[in-house]
Amino acid sequence: MQMTERVYQQNSYNYETEAKIVKIDNNRVILDRTIFYPTSGGQSADTGNIDNYRVIDVKNEDNEIVHIIDRPFKLPENNEELGKVHLKIDWEHRYDNMQQHTGQHLLSAVLLKLLHAETVSSHLGTNYNTVDVSVPMELNDEAINKIELYANSLIYNRIPVKSYFPSSNELNSLILRRKPKVKENIRVVEIEGTDITPCGGTHLSNTVEITILKIIKAEKYKGMYRIYFLCGRKASLHYLENYRTLVQTADFLSVPLKEVPLRTKNLMDKSIDQSKLINSLKGKLAEFKIDTILKNMLKINTFYFLYDVNNIESNNDETLFLEQKDILKHLKKLPAKSILLFLEINRKKLPAKMTLSIKTFPSNSNQKISALYILDNIISKYNGKGGGSKKYARGIITIKNDTPSPEMILKTIENILRKQ
Ligand SMILES: [Zn+2]
Repeated sequence: MQMTERVYQQNSYNYETEAKIVKIDNNRVILDRTIFYPTSGGQSADTGNIDNYRVIDVKNEDNEIVHIIDRPFKLPENNEELGKVHLKIDWEHRYDNMQQHTGQHLLSAVLLKLLHAETVSSHLGTNYNTVDVSVPMELNDEAINKIELYANSLIYNRIPVKSYFPSSNELNSLILRRKPKVKENIRVVEIEGTDITPCGGTHLSNTVEITILKIIKAEKYKGMYRIYFLCGRKASLHYLENYRTLVQTADFLSVPLKEVPLRTKNLMDKSIDQSKLINSLKGKLAEFKIDTILKNMLKINTFYFLYDVNNIESNNDETLFLEQKDILKHLKKLPAKSILLFLEINRKKLPAKMTLSIKTFPSNSNQKISALYILDNIISKYNGKGGGSKKYARGIITIKNDTPSPEMILKTIENILRKQ
């Protein structure tokens, strides 16, 4: 079987060339030579064009490189140049891969040199790259900082990067960072004086082209550490995005950039103090409410009717709004056969809505009149919705032209109780 000549292994900067068709099978094309890198070794495939066909995937199958194109390939009729095609890869995507991939070699070399950390696997992703490393120590912020600074100093040192196929004798004399995954045709990538590792991917010819290496974060992963990082254009976009976020935050806070952390902490502390104050005010409000509820208690036949009316017109009202459980906490000693109504009128959004919660007390008593019976009477009268049980029922009514008013609801319940 004829093997495709892999032009990208000799020159990863070659983005446009000619090739001959060896085999066509529908939308699968095999060429005598190619600049298209197939998906392998954690690096994504190149995209681009073969003539005017779009290359959507490139695969390595039995040592042949298969180009998957967007539609079945048709040979032109009576063409003297039959079988000759023009190849062009998407350079931006390839160059990005070269930056991320060379950066990964550099990062793995620095991790080994500074921390004796071995790279177990690596992945070059669309949004970020990762290396999984076994580190014989805790990886703290200080260690991460040191690695990042050292890797970037090697970038500024403009170190040449080369790739070659050593003879077996040469190979024996090389100190490789990791063992090769293949047995023959072993290609090595060397960052001079820094790192030698077997790899079939596409790389830059000098570390300076990585431009920036940024470690995003490191987290524990399956007994190892997973380090997230970005290089080149992606790293600079990441910096830019974070810088914009910081500028926006500083604008909101009206402080210079470097004062953002302290100002944020002060605001958080203040917010905690205010929450404490609100809770203490709510406690006082609850006591006041209970007094009012008990003072307004009505005795109707054998029943005791208690109610609480709340108006919510703005967010401020909501901050000081007492939940039913806050009130109930303080309403323990009630006479037998008590009926409790919580009425909430919310005018924050139109149309205004009225929420009714009806409770019978004590909840284990065998009252003749149930919470649901009272609610059903009211919502059927005012076109409301709701449901519940003997002990607790809840419903919502839309208020139209101020109908019903809280007074109307109270009167309706009084009438129900009087008829019992
Ligand atoms: Zn590589």
